[in-house]
Amino acid sequence: MTRDPDKVRAVEERFRGLVETLPQLVWTCGADGACDYLSPQWVQYTGVVESEQLGFGWTERLHPDDRQLAVDAWTTASTSGTAFDVNFRIRRHDGIYRWFKTRAMPKTDEHGNLLGWYGSNTDIQDLFEAQATLSSLNKELELRVERAVAETKKSHRDIEKLAHQLKEAQRLANLGSWDYDVASGEVVWSDELFRSFGLDSAHDLPLSLEQQADVFEPDSWVRFSRAVAHALATGEAYRLEVQFFFPDGTPRWSLASGECKRNAKGEIVGLYGTAQDITELKLTQLQLERNSGRMRLVTAAARIGFWELDVVHGRLIWDDVMHDLYGTNPRTFSGSLQDWTERVHLEDLPGTQEAFQQSLAGGEPFEATFRIVRPDGTVKYLGGLAIVHRYADGSAERAVGVNWDLTERKEAELSLRASEHLLRDFVRHAPAAIAMLDLNLCYLQASERWLTDYGLDGQDIVGRCHYDVLPDMPERWKEIYQRVLAGAVEGCNEDSYSRVGAPREWLHWEARPWRDSQGKIGGLILFTQVITARKQLELQIRTQTKELERSNHDLEQFAYAASHDLQEPLRAVSGCASILQRQYQNQLDAHADELIQHVVDGAGRMQTLILDLLTYSRVGRLGLQHTRVQTESVLKEALLLLDGAVQESQAVVDYKFMPVVMGDSAQLRQLFQNLLGNAIKYRSSDPPEVCLSVRRISREWEFSIRDNGIGIDPKHLGRIFRLFQRLHSRTEHPGTGIGLALCEKIVNSHGGQIWVKSEPNHGSTFYFTLPVIDGESNDESQEVH
Ligand code: ADP
Repeated sequence: MTRDPDKVRAVEERFRGLVETLPQLVWTCGADGACDYLSPQWVQYTGVVESEQLGFGWTERLHPDDRQLAVDAWTTASTSGTAFDVNFRIRRHDGIYRWFKTRAMPKTDEHGNLLGWYGSNTDIQDLFEAQATLSSLNKELELRVERAVAETKKSHRDIEKLAHQLKEAQRLANLGSWDYDVASGEVVWSDELFRSFGLDSAHDLPLSLEQQADVFEPDSWVRFSRAVAHALATGEAYRLEVQFFFPDGTPRWSLASGECKRNAKGEIVGLYGTAQDITELKLTQLQLERNSGRMRLVTAAARIGFWELDVVHGRLIWDDVMHDLYGTNPRTFSGSLQDWTERVHLEDLPGTQEAFQQSLAGGEPFEATFRIVRPDGTVKYLGGLAIVHRYADGSAERAVGVNWDLTERKEAELSLRASEHLLRDFVRHAPAAIAMLDLNLCYLQASERWLTDYGLDGQDIVGRCHYDVLPDMPERWKEIYQRVLAGAVEGCNEDSYSRVGAPREWLHWEARPWRDSQGKIGGLILFTQVITARKQLELQIRTQTKELERSNHDLEQFAYAASHDLQEPLRAVSGCASILQRQYQNQLDAHADELIQHVVDGAGRMQTLILDLLTYSRVGRLGLQHTRVQTESVLKEALLLLDGAVQESQAVVDYKFMPVVMGDSAQLRQLFQNLLGNAIKYRSSDPPEVCLSVRRISREWEFSIRDNGIGIDPKHLGRIFRLFQRLHSRTEHPGTGIGLALCEKIVNSHGGQIWVKSEPNHGSTFYFTLPVIDGESNDESQEVH
């Protein structure tokens, strides 16, 4: 190829001009890398003359940190002989480093041999900075985006959390909420609202107003529906308590509130509100009301008065019952503690006041029984209790308390105590041996007589066991005590009891259980009477009676023998005297006649007396011939024997019913004869009227023989049944004084009694009894034959 030097120069000139107008720093270097050309821009940029930078002087301008990078890139490129790009910083003339993009192109011959390099450095500092700004902006943006995303996520979570919290809060507060849109008629209920109606939000729909009418308590429904209508019409919020029922009928209560929703124009477009389930509260409130109602009833019934004392200001408040108890007038009550202290009984004031002050000072709660004096002077016993409310520092703020009337109980206690004392004294001084034992047979009390009877004088046996006090107790008595503790009442009229070293004693005893106020057996009471003396006396009497009976018998035998044996000589005397009188009457002188008459009379009286005595002694001597006796028959026989006297006196004898008895007919006839005879004999100036009557009293017939005779002076009534006792002289009324004694003997030997009631000039009534025959009918008519 031919080279035209001018052309080449021209090209070079053009090339140089071109290079020097470029904004890049241009350079060339040989195959070894030594720089052989630097554009003026390079020199200008670096502020270092070209000569200093040719060869490898340019590397001095590189940033120390980038030098190695540049060397490495160059080394790689010179080995491979390929173009390369590398970025590094070059120092400007003012010392500031700027980034350059270096691009190197290999310069080869037509055979491809490396001849050198062309290169350009483009200032990319601004680009770098723009990129850096962009990337930091990007980063910032990314950060912001990230933050915004995070925040969105967070706020989303927060909303979810809030919604959850709201639900939880609603559940915890039993607070349901709802939202009603007028236009669509749509109602939205919170889960809790479903729950509060006993419904399940998963299956049930909110209740429409009509459906709510069915579950509301009627009165609540009226108030609720009115409030809703009013709110929709006026925009006024409402809040009211309503009652409704669960589907199973359980009553529930809710606090319903509602407010209006308005649109931008202020028109009412719906309602929203809450329903708080207050069932628990309501039930508690109802229970409280019931309790406080009961409490009021109890305190009113028990007449418990309440008081409250403001300790700091000394103000005392009493309720009506307190005033009633103390007899004070609420209008004139000054309300100071003194109002109370001046009413407490002086004897009880110090103790009561001290107890109250101690309780105020932090001691035990006040509890006392004390007396008060009412304005009318009456005294009452009161019970009192109080508690003290305190400030945080422990000082008393106020005291509240109650008073109640104990007077009746106290008086009952006192009277019980008095009657206990009385009973104790009564038992102690009772003239009988009495002991009261408990269930363990320990003495509760014993009379002094008990101590004396059992040789325990001066000993305190209360609390000691009966068996220890009287160790010689027979076993059979221990068994009796057990029966009595089981409820039996036991007794014995005569029981013997021997103690070691003491003579045998005789007891009459009775043991009975005593019961406590609940009716349970609390122990036993023993009544005993030592009858040893009486028993000895009885034995003595029995011996004496036997003795007496024997001597009586002897006497009767004697009387019988005497009267029987006397009859014979008497009959001789009487016979002789009669003969003497008959044959020698008027033959002797008058005196002799009189004497003979005396002998005849005396013998006659003697005979009567002896006959009467004989009859009397026979009654006791001979055994009774007991048969069924028609008393009417024996009465008639007696009347026949008395016929002369009856005729002579014109006596009238009247009788009706006469029973059958067991007895000796001869003796019973004698009995009627004597009593009827006396009724006629002791007559007044009127003709005798004798009335016989019989009546049954239990197991006896009571006979009465009433006359209208002269009667008997009451002072003599006691003695007329005694032998030979007469109230009249022989001349007034003849007799021996044996008749009534005989009557008594006959009646007694038939198991009966005889007595008389009489007044002088008013007649006499003689009574006697005879036993009713065993098994005989009570009917009087059956006795009449
Ligand atoms: P006597 O008739 O032989 O004197 P009694 O033993 O029959 O003896 O009576 C005792 C006394 O009781 C009588 O003396 C008489 O005074 C009195 N007496 C008995 N029966 C009556 C009578 N029916 N009315 C009044 N006095 C009577």
